[in-house]
Order: sequence, then structure tokens, then C-alpha cells
Amino acid sequence: MSASLDPEDWDAFRAQCHVAVDDMVDWWQQVRERPVWRPVPDSIKAALTGPVPRAPCDLAEVYRRFGELVLPYPTGNTHPGFMGWVHGSGTPTGALAEFLAAGLNPNLGGREHAPIYVERQVVDWSRQIMGMPEGSSGVLVGGTSMATLIGLATARHAHAGGDARRDGLQGRAVPLVGYASREAHSCVAKAFELLGLGRDCLRLIPVDGEHRLRLSDLRDAITADRTAGRQPFCVVGAAGTVNTGAIDDLAAMADLCRDERLWFHVDAAFGGLAVLVPEIAPRLAGMERADSLAFDFHKWLHVPYEAGCILIRDEAVHRAAFALRPDYLAAAERGLAGGNPWPCEYGVDLSRGFRALKVWFTLQTFGLDRLGRAIAANCDQARWLAARVAAEPELELLGPASLNIVCFRFRDAPADALDRLNAAIVVELHERGIAAPSTTQIEGRLAIRACLCNHRTEERDLEALLAGVLALGRAQRRASR
Ligand SMILES: *Cc1c(COP(=O)(O)O)cnc(C)c1O
Repeated sequence: MSASLDPEDWDAFRAQCHVAVDDMVDWWQQVRERPVWRPVPDSIKAALTGPVPRAPCDLAEVYRRFGELVLPYPTGNTHPGFMGWVHGSGTPTGALAEFLAAGLNPNLGGREHAPIYVERQVVDWSRQIMGMPEGSSGVLVGGTSMATLIGLATARHAHAGGDARRDGLQGRAVPLVGYASREAHSCVAKAFELLGLGRDCLRLIPVDGEHRLRLSDLRDAITADRTAGRQPFCVVGAAGTVNTGAIDDLAAMADLCRDERLWFHVDAAFGGLAVLVPEIAPRLAGMERADSLAFDFHKWLHVPYEAGCILIRDEAVHRAAFALRPDYLAAAERGLAGGNPWPCEYGVDLSRGFRALKVWFTLQTFGLDRLGRAIAANCDQARWLAARVAAEPELELLGPASLNIVCFRFRDAPADALDRLNAAIVVELHERGIAAPSTTQIEGRLAIRACLCNHRTEERDLEALLAGVLALGRAQRRASR
């Protein structure tokens, strides 16, 4: 008796796979011919509801539905005109590796098998890229949000005293407080919430004109908290903020953390990878002194979603913060239950996919120099775009374009209409499929935010963005008169 879910007709299955691969390769090759994004029609949304299927359906028919309902309406981040939020653009190479990883279907929670050694190699390569010392530990996660949670949980474990894992923080008389700049990503506040520290115990420190954490304010805040009987425990530095790409003075923050005996966490989500650009690397000095460092492969290394990483300087503290090995996860010297330590001892997840394989393929296939050149190209494009904006009387720059992000707006309209007008420009750019920037607030003003994190973007895509903003801005201005 068999309940196997394998194909009944392997030849037919093989043929279907070939069709899917051919279609996908065409889709990648023709990416530029499509709009960046298009709205998902109501009919498609309706077709994506309904009862759970009880009876089987031909693979070919399900694949047809994918082609009709899903394929035409993606996020758009594979398109050269995508420049919103901080989205990586993926690579066909990474997608191929993802197929292989799913085919092999290993569980990277632990045990003794080659995929575990691939992940260890990827973690060690990451450590080398970021300049952290040999012996640092790390684990692959879904993204920088989870990496930040793990980094700060390790910091909490290291600084809470007693047995915070057993006792929690409920009985503490002295609150633990941490510090980040006002430009810090929301995942830091979320980690504070989830760790039972409370969001108010994350002090958001003002920034300077370059949007970098102001060190004198940080020192004052630490002193004030100590004086009030609270316990400062960690400082979060930004290696590339999400709004403007600002890089905090990480070396000075590392010095301060050493002197004050605080945990130094660096959010290097995308910007940390700019260490691969020789001209930018010096601005990241101090990053390598982090106690914990979180970053993403799925942003500026273009590994397909999702893949992030947490690196921790002190392996013993890292493991002490997370290891939990009940009987059913007991280690063995030999056999399949070997392979210690297991990745599940360094994080939250027990069952874990083979994310490492697409990173392993990406790093080998392209090599660091070429990946670095793609990052450098985006930084060049940001400078070019900022200069073009500055030269257009109807446009203005909002904030510095220090890395790969340009925040600007159409300004040739009444001041009280500008936020609404620029928001409308961005929606129109999306809906017409011209370009896909996002928006943010810069000092209380709505900005069109172009984040260049895309190896497919070319000058003509930036031209299309500028032409679109100008044309739509003029049209909006006329309409509002
Ligand atoms: C994207 C981002 C994050 C969150 O990372 P995810 O991978 O989306 O979880 C944190 N910090 C910065 C600076 C980011 O750009």
C-alpha cells in the first residue's frame, strides 16, 4: 500500500518542469518589457478566495492558474524601475539554488549532513565580509528583523544578570534601557516589545544634519538613566538607515560601548554590504567591533527572499541565550544526530530551510568583487540622481543622499499642497507602471524616496523616474488650481 505523493508519470512531470523553467527564463529576460507594477484586478483577488480543494487537480492546470493569477502581478522588485523601500532584486542564479534547496528538502535545525556545513561556511564567509573575529557565531534567519531580535535577546541575556531565561524580567526592580537613533528601523522597537523590555525603554536619540546619531545626546541619555537608577545595556548603531542611508559614527559608538560596558548591536541590514565598495568601506569602520550584527542577503546581495543573518562576537553567550536541548533533540557523537552545535541553539527556529544554499550559490557564482560593483553602481546612481534633482528648479532634495537613497519632492506648488501632491505622484508612478519609488517623511515633509538597491537599474530608469515626477507634478499642479 502506498500513499506516495510523487508523480505517477515522471516523464510528464519532467516535461512540466521544463516548461516552467523555460517560462521563467523568458520572464526574466523580458522583465524590462513589462510595467514595474500593475494593480491586482478585483477579479483576480476574487479568484484567489474560495474553499480549500478536496479533490486533486492536474499540475498543468495549477500551473496555468499560477500563470493567470499570480505571475502578472508581482511586487515588481525584479524590474529595473523598482526603487521603493529596500528591496533586493533577486537573481536567476539564486532562484535556481532555491529550487535545488527545496528539492533536497533538508532540515537545517541541526544534525549531521552537508547542508549544515554549507550554512556554517556561509556564516563564516559573512563573518569575514563584515570583519568580525574568527570564532564569532551566527545563524541564517528570515531577515534583519529576526536577526535583531536574536541579537538583542543575546544582549539581554548577557546583561540581565541572574537567570533571565528562567525568571524573565518580571521581578526586576531596575529596568534595562537601550539606545538607538531616531532614524533606527522599527524592528529595533519591535524587538524591545517582544523581549519584554518595553518600547519606552528604547531611547531614540536625536540625529545631526547628516541623519547620524548625535553622540553627545547619547552620552547625556546614558548618564541620565544611570542617575535615575536604570540600567543601560545596549546601543544600536545604524550602518545605513532606512530613510536616508545614513551611517552612524560606528567607531565612536564602539568606543563608548567599550567604556560604558554596553552591548553594541549594529543594524547593517543593507548598508553593511557597502563594505564591499573600497571607497565606502572606511565609513563603516567600527562595524566590525559589534557584539551583534544583523544584515540581509536579500537586499543588497540580491539573494532571493528571504535570507538574513545574525553574527555574534561571543559564541558562548550566543549559545547560552538560546540553547535548549530536550531529550528528543539529544546530541550524539556519531550518526545523524551528530553535527554539533546545531543551528537551533543559536536562534528561535527549530525547523529551518536551506536558505544557505542560495547564498552559497550567489557568493560563489558572482564573487565579492562583482557583487561590490553592483553596490557601487547603485551609489553612483544615487549621486547622479541627486545632482539631477538639484539641477531641476521644480524639484528639491530632502536630506542628504549619502549612500544609495535619494529623498526629494516636486516643490513647484503651494506649500500646504506639497505632501498630498507628492504622495499622488508616487501612486500614479506605480499605477502607470513607470517607476516604483516609495515615500517617507523627512523632517515632517513627505518625500519621494528612491532607494537604489537593484542591479538591473540603469540611467534610463532614473530618467524615466524624473520625467514621470515632473510630468505628473505639473499635471497635479494644474488639477489643483
Ligand atoms: C529592511 C531593514 C530592516 C528589516 O529587515 P527585514 O529583512 O525586512 O526584516 C532593518 N533595518 C534596516 C535598516 C532595513 O533596511
